[in-house]
This record gives sequence, C-alpha cells and structure tokens, in this order.
Amino acid sequence: MLRGLNMDRQLLVSSLIDYAGRNHSSTDVIATDSSGIVHRTNWSEICSRARQVSAALRDEGISQGDRIATIAWNDHRHLEVYYGITGLGSVLHTVNPRLRDQQIAWIIRHAEDQLVFVDPDFLELAEAIALETPSVRKWVVLTDELQETSLPNAVAYEQWINESASTFDWPLLDEWSAATLCYTSGTTGDPKGVMQSHRSIVLQTWATCTGDGHNVNSSESILLAVPMFHVNGWAIPFAAAMSGAKLVLPGPDLSAKALVRQIQDEQITFSAGVPTIWLSVVQQLKDTGSDIPSLQRIAVGGSAAPRSLMDTLEDDYGVFVSHVWGMTEMTQGSAGRFTHRVAGLNREEQRRRQAMAGRELYGVELRLVDANGEDVPRDGSSPGELLARGPWVAGAYFDLADDMTHIEDDSGNWLRTGDVATMDTEGYITIVDRAKDVIKSGGEWISSIELENAAVGAPGVAEAAAVGLPHDRWGERPLLLVVLEPDVELERDEIVEAIKPHVASWWLPDAIVAIEEIPHTGTGKIDKKVLRDRFSEFDWPE
Ligand code: AMP
Repeated sequence: MLRGLNMDRQLLVSSLIDYAGRNHSSTDVIATDSSGIVHRTNWSEICSRARQVSAALRDEGISQGDRIATIAWNDHRHLEVYYGITGLGSVLHTVNPRLRDQQIAWIIRHAEDQLVFVDPDFLELAEAIALETPSVRKWVVLTDELQETSLPNAVAYEQWINESASTFDWPLLDEWSAATLCYTSGTTGDPKGVMQSHRSIVLQTWATCTGDGHNVNSSESILLAVPMFHVNGWAIPFAAAMSGAKLVLPGPDLSAKALVRQIQDEQITFSAGVPTIWLSVVQQLKDTGSDIPSLQRIAVGGSAAPRSLMDTLEDDYGVFVSHVWGMTEMTQGSAGRFTHRVAGLNREEQRRRQAMAGRELYGVELRLVDANGEDVPRDGSSPGELLARGPWVAGAYFDLADDMTHIEDDSGNWLRTGDVATMDTEGYITIVDRAKDVIKSGGEWISSIELENAAVGAPGVAEAAAVGLPHDRWGERPLLLVVLEPDVELERDEIVEAIKPHVASWWLPDAIVAIEEIPHTGTGKIDKKVLRDRFSEFDWPE
C-alpha cells in the first residue's frame, strides 16, 4: 500500500468543543435549569468549564474507559459534562430517567458507572437506587448547593468543579476509544448498550451538519427539543459545537408554550424533536394565534410523523420539515431534504416523499432483505427487514454475550434494525412496521410484552395482548385486550391496579377491552397485526 501523506490527527470529541471555544467564543448557549433559572453562557465558558469537569474527574481517580452516568435534562451543566467526560477519555453514559427505577439500576450496574451526575429533579430517583448501584462512588448533583439528601457521597456540582484545577489539557486519545454509551430500552430481554467511539461521534456529527443532513451552520440558532439522554440528543449538542451555532437548551419544560416562547425570544432557525412535540407546538400556535417567523426548518423523527403535521407547518407557518429515521444504534440514518429532482416536482409529490422516513444519508448504508436474507428490490413497494451498516452504526453491543441482532453475509456485518420498511429508487424509506411490535408513545418505548405479563397477573384475566394504536397527541398509546376467565366481569380498575407496580405510570394502557379470543400466528405468538387492523378505528376514551 502506498500510504497517503496526511497528518496523523485523531477524530476526537474534544476537538468539537475546542473549535467552538476558539472560533465562536461569544456565541450564546442559553439554558433553563430545572429550577426555572435561565443561564446565558457561551461556547468559551462551556469549553473552559468542561475542562474543569475533566480535571475534577481526574482528581476523583477516573481514568480512560471508565463509565460516568448522567441523569439530567437539557441544560448548560449537562452540556459541560458531555464534553468534560468525553474529553478526559471516560465514557459518557446518558441514562433515560423515564425508565423504571429497577431498569435504571440494572443499566448503571451493567455499565459499572463510577460516578453519576444527577439533576436535582431526580434526587428521589437516585436515593431510591443508590443501594442497588454499588459501583457508583460519588453522586454529583447538578446544582450550586446541595439540598438535604440521603444519597451517600453526594456533592454539589458547582462546588465540586471549583475545587479542581481551572485548566486541563485534553489527552490525545485514540479515535477508536469509547466516547458515549446509551442503552436501548430493551423491549425483549435486557436493555442493550450502544457504545460509540470518538471517531463515530465526529463522523456522524459531520454527516448531521451536511446539507443533506440537518444543514446546520454558524448562522443558526438551534433549539434542542430532543432530550440529551435520548440518542445523545440526536448528535445536536455535538453538531452545534462543530458548526459554532447558537444553542438553546430548554431544561425540563418541553411544553408547547415554553417551546414557542423560546423560538420567538431566541430567534430559533432550526429545531429537532419527536412528532408529539411538534403536534403540541402547532396546537399552541393555533390556540393563541401566534407565529414563529424565525423558524426555517425542523427535523422530526423517532416515530412516524403524520403528513398533516408537515402540511400545517409548511403551509401555515413556512417551516420546512425534514422527516428523519434513526435509532440509538446509529443516531441519524436518513434525512428528508429534497433532491434536485424532487425540488422540481409539484407540492403533492413533494409532500408524499416528506411523509416517508427520509432518504439514505451518506455514511449509513441501508438494505432490505426478506426472511431468507435475500435482497428485496428498491421499488417503493416490496417490504423487507431494514439492515444498516456504516462507520457510526453499532457493530456489537456493550458486554452482551448472545448478540442476535447482527447478520454476517458475503458483503460483511449488518445491523438488523428490527424495522420492516420499503425503499424506493431514490433511497426514500417508509417504515411499514416494527418487527417487535413496540409501542411508541411520545418518542419513548413501551414494551407490549411487559404490559401483557403484568396484566395476566390481574384476577380473572386469562390472556392479554397490548397493541399500540394511533393517538393524536402521543403518536401511539397502548390498548390492552384481555380474554377473561369464564363468568368474570371486566373490572378495568382492578386490572390497572395489578399492572401499576410493574411498569412506569405512563405505560399504563389508555383503554382496556375484553375480547373472546386472542389471535395467534402459526408459531403460537400473538398476532398483533390482526389486532391492530381490527381496532384501527378504535376511539380513545375522553
Ligand atoms: P430509538 O433507538 O429509541 O431511537 O428507536 C429507534 C426506532 O424508532 C426505529 O428502529 C424505528 O422503529 C423508530 N423510528 C425512528 N424514526 C422513525 C420514523 N421517522 N418513522 C417511523 N419509525 C421511526
């Protein structure tokens, strides 16, 4: 091989924050913390405080490869910690606080997190799991001053970083070192950890910034309406630094009223979030007769966005909608920017494509296969299981012995996404169904299997099936179908009481219906498709 003669510079997350700190030092980063206080800071301060975080972690004896968890909202301290953890070479493990306490404890134990940064909002949760997470040596509460807490070894973040050196030189890591860890919600079996390298984060951030990605640049004002604990906030905390954009972090209040106010006050040009967020924003705009003229475009994804959302945002508010598809295993896999050809088509044809889940984005190769692993044509109508590969697609899960989620064939290693999709000649994908029948509520996952298992524990319930049905506000909500034992009357409250101890409160089914029989497939599994079709016209109770 004749080697190219480029410099040997590794692709590191620290280079992103350094770039922003150096070239966009006074560009605003505006954050609302969980007590409602608005902090106006900038990339220079975020960069220097991130270095302090690294120094403080080093002083705690944290080394490269150690996992450090965050249980936090979108604010400036979480952003500093993002860069402080990764800059040192330790691994940023973002934990989803919406999971059940036991799941969170399981994930922290599995990751063997050494230290946890926790928002004061989640102190009670931390107190509840502290005894079950023996690897955690310290809890750093993201606040100025510590409130009364039973947490062992708890410190206030501001005091903790102020005790460390004010300067810190980022180590020159190998770009293949682990940078972030994020667990999928695990609908079957235990959650699975997706570990991204520095190289992967930098490459996916680049793709996100490209014209066919989110097209972000230094003139933007970005509102991050995706939680930073969900797939690293879709890489936007990294993309904002890479592009030197103004970044607005809304804290815990993701209500439409708060988002609209911030779009107006901060002259937001680009934002991203799940369909539920944008449906509520549109409703708020309609109810109040207000407008958001600065907002040029949004990315929407995480679950299927309805066509009506795009129509309203574009026709009534002039906001271009890019429908993206992705998953924890790769962050963004597609984006919905128009090709030159689609840009020349009429509006109806354009909208038809926008309702699809975007086009293959360079860097994530997509492929459809049938049950025998044979390629399915890209004809826009033949469904197949969606496979993906690329430099930022997970090649394996963290510390998981029995990995059934990848397939190896003559062309190499592919991730099985679990989604069934069609793809057209231009690379537009349409998600037909999820292979695992997971219920997506407001961009978060509800396990139908866990709901069913809990429901069959209720007195008088012989069998249960949970299916996700379309819901105007949440995208989908669970409908629970039960077969009752002979001569038993349906007692909805009793069933709900029996399920409650086993699942998060927002997982509880919105409706419960008794049916004669639950249909099964040839292999004895509940046939969810038949049930979804049968209840497709179901009206949710008020
Ligand atoms: P998560 O890892 O939690 O982000 O979930 C990833 C899953 O969300 C994918 O495998 C899809 O099932 C679903 N998903 C993401 N984006 C879309 C979309 N635009 N349309 C339909 N489903 C989507």
